[in-house]
Amino acid sequence: MLLGKHVTKLYKTDAGTIHILVNSDFQINKGDFVFLTGFSGSGKSTLLKLLSGEERPIHGEIIFQNFPIHSLNEDAYLKFRQSLGVIYQDYRLIDHKNVYENIAFVLEALNYKENEAKDIIAEVLDIVGLSHRASAYPEQLSGGEKRRVTIARAIAINPILILADEPTGDLDPYNTEIIMEIMTKIAQKGTTIVMSTHHIELVQEYTDARIWYLQQGRLYKDINYDTLIEFYFKKNKVTNVESQNTPRSTRKKQLVQQLKARRQEKLIVKITTIPDIIINNIEHLTPEILEKYYDLNAKELKRILEMLI
Ligand code: ADP
Ligand code: MG
Repeated sequence: MLLGKHVTKLYKTDAGTIHILVNSDFQINKGDFVFLTGFSGSGKSTLLKLLSGEERPIHGEIIFQNFPIHSLNEDAYLKFRQSLGVIYQDYRLIDHKNVYENIAFVLEALNYKENEAKDIIAEVLDIVGLSHRASAYPEQLSGGEKRRVTIARAIAINPILILADEPTGDLDPYNTEIIMEIMTKIAQKGTTIVMSTHHIELVQEYTDARIWYLQQGRLYKDINYDTLIEFYFKKNKVTNVESQNTPRSTRKKQLVQQLKARRQEKLIVKITTIPDIIINNIEHLTPEILEKYYDLNAKELKRILEMLI
């Protein structure tokens, strides 16, 4: 249903380059429930925005039912968005509209007839257990209730894919359970769901779900719960150096040794400043990316690497 091919996403900031994804491939199939995990700041929200087309990869593409979403024309993109139910972390409810109107607003924009909309709203409010709160305004609702409205709004358009950004992020265990029950109900109807969360204990209960873990530009796909725990545990013990422990990073050490043997001190300095993840994926990154984001002469760098490997 949704395919990522060589997806690279970086943010260049004054403090340096932030790697969200480097040359990542992934696939989401119809009916999948994907838990997207990772520490705060690892890039979960950004990845969800890449999937919805709100953010653009600097390299690679995301393909939805055979169409690369970032190359769609305006009409086709709008159609794609209409098949998506997005649950934003910050609710995005309209304050001066009540619960019913917040959902009706979305259906009106999609030209649903009033009667049809009425039936749909009754149904989705029933699913999230808020039929009795239809006339309440957002400020009169608790966090858990607001979250349930955003879920009702997302499923009202009968989406084939739901992207939920930490829907339980700010909720207590009781409300978290309610939200997870609703998400499970939606999944059981066959709707594909990608849900980001840093509540890893949640993940353990859903054995049918896929677990993805995002860290320093690398997406670890379909790991099991034990591996997820290891990632979290390791991260707590040795902050920010995991990538140096991964087997592929030995490539950098090999390069440095080869350069030492050739007494290429200047190049050693250059190579050690390049993140492991770039060295490991150098074949897949375009010269434009290397030059734009790393101030590297890409052709020269690639020639050196090819010469040494
Ligand atoms: P998460 O959802 O996992 O907490 P985010 O996707 O929100 O992570 O952010 C990942 C990293 O990217 C953070 O370090 C954040 O500061 C940075 N970031 C997010 N959006 C932008 C942006 N538009 N420009 C620059 N940096 C950004
Ligand atoms: Mg986030």
